[in-house]
Amino acid sequence: MLPVIALVGRPNVGKSTLFNRLTRTRDALVADFPGLTRDRKYGQASYEDYEFILVDTGGIDGSEQGIESEMAEQSLLAIEEADIVMFLVDARAGLTASDIGIADHLRKQQKKVFVVANKIDGIDADSNCAEFYQLALGEVYQIAAAHGRGITSLLDTALQPVIAEYAEAYREANPEEFEDDLVDSLYDDENEGEEVDGERPDKPVKLAIIGRPNVGKSTLTNRILGEERVIVYDMPGTTRDSVYIPMTRNEKEYVLIDTAGVRKRKKVSDVVEKFSVIKTLKAIEDANVVLLVIDAREGISDQDLSLLGYTLNAGRSLVIAVNKWDGLDTDVKDRIKSELDRRLGFIDFARIHFISALHGTGVGHLFESVDEAYESATKRISTAMLRRIMDMAQADHQPPLVRGRRVKLKYAHAGGYNPPIIVIHGNQVKDLPDSYKRYMMNYYRKALKVMGTPIKIEFREGD
Ligand code: GDP
Ligand code: GDP
Repeated sequence: MLPVIALVGRPNVGKSTLFNRLTRTRDALVADFPGLTRDRKYGQASYEDYEFILVDTGGIDGSEQGIESEMAEQSLLAIEEADIVMFLVDARAGLTASDIGIADHLRKQQKKVFVVANKIDGIDADSNCAEFYQLALGEVYQIAAAHGRGITSLLDTALQPVIAEYAEAYREANPEEFEDDLVDSLYDDENEGEEVDGERPDKPVKLAIIGRPNVGKSTLTNRILGEERVIVYDMPGTTRDSVYIPMTRNEKEYVLIDTAGVRKRKKVSDVVEKFSVIKTLKAIEDANVVLLVIDAREGISDQDLSLLGYTLNAGRSLVIAVNKWDGLDTDVKDRIKSELDRRLGFIDFARIHFISALHGTGVGHLFESVDEAYESATKRISTAMLRRIMDMAQADHQPPLVRGRRVKLKYAHAGGYNPPIIVIHGNQVKDLPDSYKRYMMNYYRKALKVMGTPIKIEFREGD
C-alpha cells in the first residue's frame, strides 16, 4: 500500500509545478494513449525504491472551515486521507494570513507536515525563509520547483525517512504480501535465449471493482459473491480503505477489492459519501486487474476517463463493464455502443462487457476476461522471443534516421510483469519519435497476443 502525500498551500505557490516535477516519469504510459484526459490532481510518483501517491489539493486559502464549496471539500478530504502533507509557501511573497490559516488547520489534523518554501531562485533564501518558522511546524525546506532546486534534498532528508518508515510498518503488518521475490527473480533472466524455468506461484488474483458512485459497484459485488446481502463489514476506521473480500470461483482464488463497501455501511447511518479518489487509486495500485464499471445510462464521463487514466498510469490490467444494460431499447444500445467506440476506441486492449448487475446478465463472463487479462499481464516471455519480435518489427519498418544516423535497436529483454515491461537497448534511442515507440508497442502486442493489459517498453541507451 502506498503512502499518500498531499500538496497543500494557497493558490500560486507552485503546487502544480512541484506536482508535475515529481510525477513526470510515471506519466509515460498515459502519454502513449492519445485521447485520454490527464487529470493533474492525482498522480503516482516514485523516488528511488519508494512509490507514493501524490495529490495536488488545489486552491485552499485557509478560510475554508465552513465553506461548502466542493473544491475546498475535496481538498480537505485529501488532507484528511493523506499520510504526509507538504505545505508549500511562497518564499518571495513571504508569510501571509492564509498561510497561518492553513497551518492552524494542519496542526489540528495531527499529520506529518513538511513546510516547503518555494521560489527561492534569485533571492536570499535564508533570510526570506526565516519567517516561516513562525508557522511552528518545524523545519522549513527551501526549493525552487520550477528549476528543480532543493528537491532531491527535500526528498532525501524529509520524505525518504518517513516513506521508508511507512513502508516498513506496512511490511511488518502484512508479511504475506512480500513473498514475491521468487516471481521477481524469474524475470532477472541473465540466460539469454533460454526459456526461464520455474512455476509462477499460484496467488489469488486481486480484482479491484472501481467506478463512480452509483454505477452499480455494490450491486455487482453482491452479485459476484452470489448473495443479496447488505455489505456490513468491520472496517478499520478510515474512509480511504477498500474492503478486501477473498472468494473462489471455478476453483480459482480471487480477492475482490471493493471500493464501494465502506459507503454502503455508512449509508445505513445516513452519512453522505464523499467519493474518495485516493481510495480508488490505492485499490488500483494494489490490484492485479481492474474492473472499471460504467453506467450505460449515464454515458462516459470525464471522471470515467480519469479513472481509466489512473489505471493505465499504474499499468494495471483492465476489463470494462458497461452496467445497467437491462431494459434499454435497441436504438439506445446502438447509440451507447458508438459512443464507447468513439471515446474508448484508443484502449483497444481492454475487453468490454455489457452487463446487468441487477439481473446477473453477463456477470459470469466477466471472469473470462479477468483471467485472460491476468494471464497476459503475468505471462513469462523468453528473451529470445522478445528479441525475435524486435528484429521482425525493425525489419518490417526501420527506425528513422536522426541527424543522418539510423536509430538502431539491438537487444531486448523482459523487465517485469503486471504490466509486462520490455526493455530495449539501442543507439540514439532517446531520439526515437513517439510514433515509432507506439509502433513497437503495437507490434509486440499483436505478436505476443496480449489482451487486457497495457505493455510498457523502456528504451535504454547502449548495449
Ligand atoms: P499552484 O497554484 O500552487 O499550483 O502554483 P503553480 O505551480 O501554478 O505556480 C504558480 C506560478 O509560480 C507559476 O507562474 C509558476 O511558473 C511559478 N513558479 C513555480 N515554481 C517556481 C519557482 O521555483 N520559482 C519561480 N520563480 N517561480 C515559480
Ligand atoms: P455503487 O455506488 O457503484 O456501488 O452503485 P450501487 O450498486 O449502489 O447501485 C446504484 C443504483 O443503481 C442502485 O439503485 C442499483 O439498484 C442500481 N443498479 C445497479 N446495477 C443495476 C443494473 O444492472 N440495472 C439497473 N437497472 N439498475 C442497477
